[in-house]
Amino acid sequence: MLRLEKEVVIARFISPSGETVQAPIEIRTNPITGRTSRVAFSRIGEREAGTDFLPAPPPFAGDTSQCPFCRPRLQSKTPRLLPELAPDGRLVRGGSVLFPNLFPYGAYSAVSLFDDTHFVEIGTAPPASYADSFLNCADYLQRVLAYDAEAVFMAITQNHLPSAGGSLLHPHLQVQADRVASNHHRFLRAKAARHFDENGSLLFSDYLDHEKTEADRYIGRTGGWEWLAAYAPEGFFEIWGILPRVTSLSQVTADGWKDLSRGVLNTQRFYRSLCRNGYNLGLLLIEDGMSRIELRVVIVVRSNYAPWVRSDHTGFEVMLGDMATFTAPEDTATGARPFWN
Ligand SMILES: [Zn+2]
Repeated sequence: MLRLEKEVVIARFISPSGETVQAPIEIRTNPITGRTSRVAFSRIGEREAGTDFLPAPPPFAGDTSQCPFCRPRLQSKTPRLLPELAPDGRLVRGGSVLFPNLFPYGAYSAVSLFDDTHFVEIGTAPPASYADSFLNCADYLQRVLAYDAEAVFMAITQNHLPSAGGSLLHPHLQVQADRVASNHHRFLRAKAARHFDENGSLLFSDYLDHEKTEADRYIGRTGGWEWLAAYAPEGFFEIWGILPRVTSLSQVTADGWKDLSRGVLNTQRFYRSLCRNGYNLGLLLIEDGMSRIELRVVIVVRSNYAPWVRSDHTGFEVMLGDMATFTAPEDTATGARPFWN
């Protein structure tokens, strides 16, 4: 079964004022990926440039004149889906519109807008706009699967603001499906299958059961989705939402997408309370009818989109492959819980 492992190492040095200092660093092993990450406790409470207050909107946030996602230009500036996928060329649900990504990363690559609002500060979007956009993504992915049964490696992702990788300010989700697995698809499929073979149970359900028993990192629920701070974070203030026992899009109801949207917005409001304005979101699926990967959304804070901010990926993450965060996941859960009530 799942074991949560950690090891504490101590750095010893003489401080500038002459005292001997012992600084603990916790090295935790992610029970899903096997990767290690570090919590550098000595940096807790450190003043981080650009996070004293929520950064102001970028100076060009009001300039919608060139935005291809704003309604006056949407029809003429965005591509259309092949008629085999959608006879109308775009999928529309409430205020959300989905269309192909003009700069695709895979065979089936699309963009799903939330609505016609050009700039939305983190934590302030109407939950219905997220539900509509997720529903559009699910609709698109199921159309793709009906059209190309081998394009089973699927993902819904979000880059909120350019510091998280977003190229356009107008909020949107990316959605994609491919016959070729990504690294994380490949790894997760093998891990979840091995876990099922060895235990006869589902990986994320077992992880969730453990975390609900231990409770330190459990945050709350929105409908069927259960939320927790990641045990061994691979990003700052990493939060997971798990929909236990659900392994396919076809099993998610309209209410299920609404419940996911509420949890995503709760997370955003928590991040906003920390004066963070950038984040990434990801939900991975393998729709091959055999996958043991349950739906899990991962959300991490990224460096603020503001002047003079340090990147959240240092030589340590890029070269050693271990994320080093400064906050204990148990404290992340404590801080997030009020946003679920
Ligand atoms: Zn726009």
